Amino acid sequence: MSKADAVIIGAGIIGASVAYWLRRLDPAMSVALVERDRSFARASSSLSASSIRQQFSHPLNIRMSRFGLGFLREMGIAVEEKGYLYLGAAAPLRAQNAVQRDNGADVALLSPVEMVARFPWLNVDGVELGALGLSGEGWFDGPALHAEVLQRARQLGARFVDGDVTGFERDAGGRVRAVLLADGSRIACGHAVNAAGPWARSVAATAGIALPVHARRRTVFVLSCPEKLADCPLVIDPSGFWFRPEGNFFIAGTAPSPDEDDLPLEPNHAEFDEALWTRMAHRVPAFAALRVERAWAGYYEMNLFDANAIIGAHPSAPNLWFANGFSGHGMQQAPAAGRGVAELILKGRFESLDLSPLGFRRLIEGRPLEEANVIG
Ligand SMILES: Cc1cc2nc3c(=O)[nH]c(=O)nc-3n(C[C@H](O)[C@H](O)[C@H](O)COP(=O)(O)OP(=O)(O)OC[C@H]3O[C@@H](n4cnc5c(N)ncnc54)[C@H](O)[C@@H]3O)c2cc1C
Repeated sequence: MSKADAVIIGAGIIGASVAYWLRRLDPAMSVALVERDRSFARASSSLSASSIRQQFSHPLNIRMSRFGLGFLREMGIAVEEKGYLYLGAAAPLRAQNAVQRDNGADVALLSPVEMVARFPWLNVDGVELGALGLSGEGWFDGPALHAEVLQRARQLGARFVDGDVTGFERDAGGRVRAVLLADGSRIACGHAVNAAGPWARSVAATAGIALPVHARRRTVFVLSCPEKLADCPLVIDPSGFWFRPEGNFFIAGTAPSPDEDDLPLEPNHAEFDEALWTRMAHRVPAFAALRVERAWAGYYEMNLFDANAIIGAHPSAPNLWFANGFSGHGMQQAPAAGRGVAELILKGRFESLDLSPLGFRRLIEGRPLEEANVIG
C-alpha cells in the first residue's frame, strides 16, 4: 500500500479501535493499519487483566468507561459483572461516590459490617468503607475484544500492513506527508495515528515530540486457593494491590518498587513473596493457602505526567494524532478513544464525548488531570 487517508501505527486494541471507527463513521476513508508483530505476543492488549470499572474520580474517565461497557455489549463480548470493591478511607470514597453517581455509575457504599455480611471471607481491619460496583463493572476476554474489533475494522475495509514504522516525512509546517517503514518503503498519508502502546514514546521521538509514556512491567500472578470465595469481586486493597477471580483461579498484581522502564517481559516471581502474599493473606485469611500456578508480564503504558490517556495532536504536528499512555485502563477506554480520534480526523473536533481535557495542552501548560483511582 503506497498511500492512505489515515495510517495507524500499531494494531493493538487502540489502533484497531481507531481503524474501526474511522471506517464506521466514513466508509470513504482509506485506512492502513501498520503492525510489526501480527502475533501480538508482547502487545499490552494480549497481556492485560481486561477489567472494566466505573470507579474513577474524574467524570471523563467514568464516561469513557461507560461508553466502553456499551461497546462491549454491542460487540457481543460477555462481561463478568462481579463489580470492583474499593476498600479505603471514608471521606475520599464518599466524595468519589458522589461524582460517580452523578455520572450514572451504579456504585454502593458499604460499611465494614455490611461488607462482612456480604463477603464473609474478607478481613476489614483498617478499612473504613467499601465502594462496590453493583452493575456495569467486572472483567471480560480482552484478546476476544481485540480480535473482534480488528476483524470488524477489516470487514469495514481497513487494510492491514505488516511493517515497522521508523519515522515520518513532514512538510515545512510539520505536517506528516508519509509514514516511513524499516524496509525502506513509505506510505503517503493525510493523517497518521500513534497507537504504538508502550512503544509510543519512541514513535513520537522520531517526530521530535517528547511523549512521557513509559513501558512499565507489571507481573500478573495466577493463583489457586483451596477455599472458594463466594461472589468475589475485583478487590482493590488500600495498600496497593488488586485481585479477582479468573475461572477456578485468582489473578493478582501490584505496582513494583522500584518501577523501572523497559524491563524484559518476564514475570518477576519474587514479587509474590516479597510484595503480595502477606498482604493478600491479611486481607483474606483463606489466601494463606494460596499457590502460584503461573505468572505473566505485560507493559503498562504509563503516562508519567498524570497517569491518564493523551489523546489528540501536538501543536508541532497537526495531523499526527496520539492515543497513548492509558496507564492501566486502556482496554476499557479503547472504544471511546478510537471514536474520539476518528472524530478529530474526520470532523476536526470531538462530536460525541469531549475528550479535549486529555489533549496535549495540559502537558504543555503543566496542568495534570487529577485521577485518584489509578491502579498501579
Ligand atoms: C498486566 C496488565 C493489566 C492490565 N489491566 C487492564 C485492565 O484491567 N483494564 C484495562 O482497561 N486496561 C488494562 N491494562 C491496560 C491495557 O491492556 C492497555 O492500555 C491497552 O492494551 C493498550 O493498547 P494499545 O493498543 O495502546 O497497545 P498494545 O496492545 O501494546 O499495541 C501496540 C501495538 O503497536 C505495535 N507497534 C509498536 N511500535 C510499532 C512500530 N514502530 N511500527 C509498527 N507497529 C508498532 C506493537 O507491536 C503492538 O502490537 C492492563 C495492561 C497490563 C499490561
